[in-house]
Amino acid sequence: PSRDQIHYFGAGPAPLPTPVLEKAAGALLNYQDTGIGICEISHRSAQANQVLADAKSALTQLLDVPDTYDILFLQGGGTGEFSAVVYNLVSIWVEKRRRRALEDLTIALADGKEPGSKEDLNAKVLQRLKAEVDKELKLDYLVTGSWSQKASQEAARLVGADKVNVAVDAKARNGGKFGIIPPESEWSLTPRKREGGPGSALIYFCDNETVDGVEFPSFPTSITGHAEDDVDDDAPLIVADMSSNFISRKVDVKKYAVIFGGAQKNVGNAGITIVIVRKSLLPPTAALASPEVLRAVGLPIGPIVFDWATIAKNDSLYNTLPIFDVWIAGQVMAGLLEKFGSKKIQGQEEISRQKANLIYGALDKYPNVYHVVPDESVRSRMNICFRVHGGDADKEKQFLAGAEKLGLSGLKGHRSVGGIRASNYNAVSVEGAKKLATYLEEYANNK
Ligand code: PLP
Repeated sequence: PSRDQIHYFGAGPAPLPTPVLEKAAGALLNYQDTGIGICEISHRSAQANQVLADAKSALTQLLDVPDTYDILFLQGGGTGEFSAVVYNLVSIWVEKRRRRALEDLTIALADGKEPGSKEDLNAKVLQRLKAEVDKELKLDYLVTGSWSQKASQEAARLVGADKVNVAVDAKARNGGKFGIIPPESEWSLTPRKREGGPGSALIYFCDNETVDGVEFPSFPTSITGHAEDDVDDDAPLIVADMSSNFISRKVDVKKYAVIFGGAQKNVGNAGITIVIVRKSLLPPTAALASPEVLRAVGLPIGPIVFDWATIAKNDSLYNTLPIFDVWIAGQVMAGLLEKFGSKKIQGQEEISRQKANLIYGALDKYPNVYHVVPDESVRSRMNICFRVHGGDADKEKQFLAGAEKLGLSGLKGHRSVGGIRASNYNAVSVEGAKKLATYLEEYANNK
């Protein structure tokens, strides 16, 4: 079949707008009349710099990214950022504590309140720091699906399970299956210092769980994170994985310390990860712990390619960046800006909602045939997970085969959970969603 005969509901890589791919075909052969293709131009060339600047500008406009934030392009996928988040934010936490310990101990030694001489200062600082790391370093994770679970497991692998506080364990709360977000009153976030606790270095959540079809309806009200203009040093840094709902709705960027997402769902093809990071977490405002300090306190030293400060300092060109991937992302975002005009991301948000309503609407009409997996209050607009006839394997196979015949493809659920998953990313057209809704009705009526 040709592209226009297929509506692709794959979860990622996901569909891309055909006009972008058509333009890409030309760019691959001869980019901007240079006689060479976009994959062949140097990442240090003027053209490559322009590609980067354009992509950043489009994202800034779409999401109203304040100029107190930096936008980074990296490789390593969303999974790479599971690790990068830990390396970077733990390093910042450690350096802050080291400076405080240095200040305190310098004064205490001078006043004679601390025994020893100036020569002992460094050893004393590291000793105090190590004790603080062992006792007080905590990372809070809201585990509401497979991806936040993986991120929390990576944090535990890197810094030790004793430092990871699973503040929400949605699976345990829901009989062993993901599908709910427990009420905020039940979350066991690490108490802040003012509440007598150690405070948390970060609060991590996945805004949209791709495998389980669970999306935060809005920013959780109970997690007041560290704000840009906040002098409250004790407030945690909020980190969100938006891989699978990036640029699909309005986001108040200021509430987050870090937002990241792999490009391969709503933004582009697989190959780049986008990180929106508050500039105050980068030098010169923030300082990272030196490798020597991290080693001394038994914490891991991250690879340089995941070091946000290094990537930011080099405008994402510390090492070879796949410029083609950035170009695709830039084209997709420029296309949204053009399509929605002054509505910007709100235009996309309305359409995402409309498409999701069409599909959920059809599913809800036939409760004897379909069962939407997650709770109604947390249904994802992006990944619509459901079972057919209670998850009967043969019937689900038949359902998928019938869909394929109509050109509705990519509907098989994730291998870990089975069932059906209709991924409703930005490049899925309203027509595609309507066609799927019609098929859902027809299938249900024929049974
Ligand atoms: N986070 C979410 C929400 C995802 O959906 C995915 C992949 O599907 C990942 C992280 C991992 O991304 P990657 O495969 O780019 O490492």
